Amino acid sequence: MLTFARRPLLIGAMLALVGSGLVASGARAANAPVDDPGPSAYLPPLPPPPPPPVALHSLPRHPGAASHSAGPGVRVPILMYHYIRTNPAVPDRLGADLSIAPAHFAAQLDWLAAHGFQTITLDDLTAAIRHGAPLPRRPVILTFDDGYADFYTAAYPALAQHGFKATSFVITGKVGRPGYLTWDQMRAMQASGLVQFEAHTVDHVELAHVSLLKAQYELIASKQALESQLGTRVKYFCYPSGDYNAAVEALVTLDGYQAALTTHPGLWHHPGDLLALTRVRIHGSDTLARFAAHLGLAPPPALHHPAAGPAPDGGAPAADPPIPDLSNPPAEPVMTPRRYPAHAPRAP
Ligand SMILES: [Zn+2]
Repeated sequence: MLTFARRPLLIGAMLALVGSGLVASGARAANAPVDDPGPSAYLPPLPPPPPPPVALHSLPRHPGAASHSAGPGVRVPILMYHYIRTNPAVPDRLGADLSIAPAHFAAQLDWLAAHGFQTITLDDLTAAIRHGAPLPRRPVILTFDDGYADFYTAAYPALAQHGFKATSFVITGKVGRPGYLTWDQMRAMQASGLVQFEAHTVDHVELAHVSLLKAQYELIASKQALESQLGTRVKYFCYPSGDYNAAVEALVTLDGYQAALTTHPGLWHHPGDLLALTRVRIHGSDTLARFAAHLGLAPPPALHHPAAGPAPDGGAPAADPPIPDLSNPPAEPVMTPRRYPAHAPRAP
């Protein structure tokens, strides 16, 4: 393994490639304005996308493609959670949005199970994207950011009830501090075979807004801490606040990560998206109907059902209208827009 001390030379080499457009991520960034709302106003309209595939397991693949693919990829919702708790401070609107009440979370897992969703891992996803490895008919990936203690006390017991797999992205500098997971808790969950722990930096810094040397440290030191404490190989990275750019992507590849996750919304994943996988943010105010809509399985009117919002006492979620069990997902663009955040979003 390369040591951190030897990396600055490689950083310079990689960044030179990024600047010259020879690195794939840089090339994709140059293509991105086609999908950006501003410049696209001056471009002719894109042709309509082809119809969606009939079944997930029959999707065309692009094995080995290194550049941004122009065809269909795999459709896998990667759900993004933070806290599983009743928000302790009502005026804290960001905290409320990031907090899923335990009863709501349990209801969401029940809903996934009842509708035939099967949890897969990021290894499963990357194998499907790269090599066309088969996936279940309704795959879903559950991710939890920041390594909060309630992942062990609230989320994990509910996941275990269903035998659901999950990935926790840990801020290694916070491990063991009040409100955060401990290494022993992580080892216990890892031993169950249901949970894998991946990197989310040491200090939760926004990597596109720090020096490249600092970004390099955050990427390498968090990976090494997890690998030494848990005895596993860390392969996936989650950008804090969804903040990244082409240079950060180059470092992610250089440091041995196989894929990285953003906060961009989306359900489809292509070979060219491995360093910027999209996710589905789950909000504290989501009803089951809205949760289903995130997964593409509810009609739009349910989004505005008057029963929306969590029960004020943190109890069972409010009743929702029936959710139709659609056999085919709705059409989506075949090309995931390539967007680097213009301004760093502040939500974790
Ligand atoms: Zn975070």
